[in-house]
This record gives sequence, C-alpha cells and structure tokens, in this order.
Amino acid sequence: MKVLIVGSGGREHAIAASAVKSTRLEKLYCAPGNAGIAEYAQCVDIGVMEFDKLVAFAKKESIDLVIVGMDEPLAGGLVDEMGAAGIRTFGPRKNAAILEGSKAFSKDLMRKYNIPTAGYRNFTDAGKAFEYLETAKFPIVLKADGLAMGKGVLICGAPEEARAGIREIMLDKKFGSAGNEMVIEEFMTGREVSVLSFVDGKTIKTMTSAQDHKRAGDGDTGLNTGGMGTFSPSPFYTKEVEDFCRRHIYQATVDAMAAEGRAFKGVIFFGLMLTAEGPKVLEYNARFGDPEAQVVLPRMKTDLIEVMEACIDGTLDQVELEFEDNAAVCVVLASDGYPVKYDKGFEITGLEEFKKHEGYYCFHAGTRFDGNRIVTSGGRVLGITAKGKDLKEARENAYAATKWVQFENKYMRHDIGKAIDEAEGC
Ligand code: ATP
Repeated sequence: MKVLIVGSGGREHAIAASAVKSTRLEKLYCAPGNAGIAEYAQCVDIGVMEFDKLVAFAKKESIDLVIVGMDEPLAGGLVDEMGAAGIRTFGPRKNAAILEGSKAFSKDLMRKYNIPTAGYRNFTDAGKAFEYLETAKFPIVLKADGLAMGKGVLICGAPEEARAGIREIMLDKKFGSAGNEMVIEEFMTGREVSVLSFVDGKTIKTMTSAQDHKRAGDGDTGLNTGGMGTFSPSPFYTKEVEDFCRRHIYQATVDAMAAEGRAFKGVIFFGLMLTAEGPKVLEYNARFGDPEAQVVLPRMKTDLIEVMEACIDGTLDQVELEFEDNAAVCVVLASDGYPVKYDKGFEITGLEEFKKHEGYYCFHAGTRFDGNRIVTSGGRVLGITAKGKDLKEARENAYAATKWVQFENKYMRHDIGKAIDEAEGC
C-alpha cells in the first residue's frame, strides 16, 4: 500500500514509525514532514492546508490511504475533500471534527447526552459574559470556542482577571475567530489523564492511557505549552476509573455523535479529570494528542494501518487492540525560551545513537535539514521516548537518552513522570 501522512510534528513522526512496521506498507509519503520523518518517508513539500495540492498529489501517486494527523486540516474538511476525490482517508469528516473544533458544541453535546463534564455556559455576546461574572464562583475557566493551539484556555482567580480574559478573547480577538463564541466553565480539581481511542463510527476501542505535562517549568510552573513530556500508562487510570469511563463517557460520546448525524471515524482523544465526584471530560480532541502519541504508539502491538482501515470500513469490532505490557516516557527537548521567544538554526548532534538502541526513539518536532546537517527549527525540537519494564525504568532510560543529543539552547523539564513516585508513595 502507498500511504500519505499529512503533518510535520512529533505526532506524525510517531505515526510514521508505527506505519513502517506494517506488513501492508509498500511506500510512505509525508506532507510536509520533517527531518526525522524523512528517515522513513519521502517528504513532499505541500502544506497541510493546501487541500487542492494534497488531493492532486494523492491522485497522481495513487495513494491507497491518507492519514491526517493535525487538527487544522481536519477541522477544515481535508477528509471530505479526499473522500470526494475517491481517496481513502483516516480521520473524522468536517462535521465530526467539530467535536474538537468547537468547545461550545462539545459542551452542549455532553449536556444533552449526560456525559460527565464541568458545569458551563456558552456566550456569543461579551456583555452577557461580563454580566454572568457578577454571580459566578471563582476560580473560573474561560475557553475560546475554536482552535487556539492549546492557548485559548484561561483559568481566572478573580473577577477582574476574568473580565480581562473575556475582553482578550471576545473583543480583542486574541485568538481570531476562535473567540467569536466562548465557554465559561466551572473550575475542577483532580488528576488529569489522557485516553486515546480508535472509532469507526459506532465501535470504540481505547488505547493505553497517558498523562502529559503542559507547563514549561519544573513543578508545573511557568506558561502553558504544547506539552513538555508524557508517560504511559498512567498509574491513576485504575480499573475502577476505566470501568466508569466505559459506562458513562466513551461509548456515550460515539453514540451521541452518531445520533446527531455526525458519525465519528478516526481518533478521539479524551482529556479526563479525575475529580472527587468521579471522572469528567475536560476536553475532546479529534486526533492523536502530541506528545501523547509519542508514548502510546511505540507500545502498540497491533498493526496501525490495519486498525485505521478498520475504522474507515466500520469493522473495528473485529480488531483486537494490543499493547505491550511495559511503560514509556517521553521528555521533550525544547529551545530555551519556548513558548515565548527562542533562537533556532542550531545544529543537532548525537541523533545516530538512537539507531543503536532498541526501545529508544527520537521523534522530531521542530527540526529541518540545512544541507547535510539537521538544525533546530521550532520551540519543541525533539521528543525523546524510552520504554522500560515499568514507569520508573522508562523514566530513567528516557532521561539517560536526553544526554545523547546536543544542541545549543537545549531545554527540558527534569520532572516528567515524577507523579509516578507519588503514586508509588516514594
Ligand atoms: P490542548 O488542545 O492543548 O489540550 P485546549 O486548548 O484544548 O488544550 P483544554 O484541554 O480544554 O484546552 O484545557 C487546557 C488545560 O486547562 C487542561 O489540561 C486543564 O489543565 C486546564 N483546564 C481546562 N478546563 C478546566 C476546568 N474546567 N477546570 C480546571 N482546569 C481546567
């Protein structure tokens, strides 16, 4: 089979690394890809929002399967356009990608179908939102309705902070049209767990759990980022939590989407908060999380392409999803200064070390070729993933492997997976 992956980050690198293990794969392409993905795939210089060019390329090369990894092309309807051209594509259509693309939609869906989530109200009028603050309980959570690259969520401790937030989102349009509507949500406390799943429109199969670290600094300090590291499985995702989510969240979400005439095919990411009242949905994503994919996919034993085809064909019930009985930790190597201001263009050395060690991965996020050299080209540069028999060993292995790679301005958190120690009572 000829497969085209659309995207250019660590997630797409992890998808590529899984796809090449498939016996069905004949040739892999990635648009636009990156310096790491180029090891497995022929990278094609087409942007993820250049739908016409992507469709024309897929037709010309007789691509058998397109995999869309990123939120923007999904929300923009790339799967529909590929479908209209007769090209099999893994990912939700536009009318289902709205599960991530509009937080107001997803909150209303959860309310309508009794799926546990934080109490909320949606606003299209800033004046009404300001009024609402007068009777609201603090802290409170403000969310821009649309996609805002993980930055459209503000947790406000006091009314003046919330007023400034509403102004930024709805009046100053800091996140553009994503702020035309806004959700104001009850603040919840508890541990966060991420669960990814494959969905074929009616059947859902969940993958092993994961947990990410969003803040830039050690001890969960500093600004929110795209993610500074992850570990899998989460020791807090117990059998009891899983049973609850199976009964009240997972299938209920898939059935709700089908009932709304928006059958979902692809990956649903459940961002869960384990509150004192039980697990609640923080957010849905309509694709693999990044860097969650970088710890979940390396542990997956089932053929990725086979599962994706089953999602397209509606035969997921016949697939057995299997994961290795081990653990994985991913530490993100970033450019110092991320997520605000950072220099790039620095040469990266030591990458060849990963070829010598089984169970270690170096997923590229912000890298590019500069002649024969590979240089930094973004805030998050590499995701260093290692497996181990348990989380502790995986964490030691991942941190050992971060030393193999060098570049100027290398920055990382030193406490990825530290919650594991707490879980074990260390
Ligand atoms: P991303 O796409 O990067 O995951 P996002 O912009 O879709 O992020 P959310 O996941 O909804 O935003 O929220 C980001 C973070 O804000 C959550 O991981 C959580 O830590 C915090 N958060 C969101 N909603 C709540 C809430 N109701 N109570 C407490 N914390 C919250």
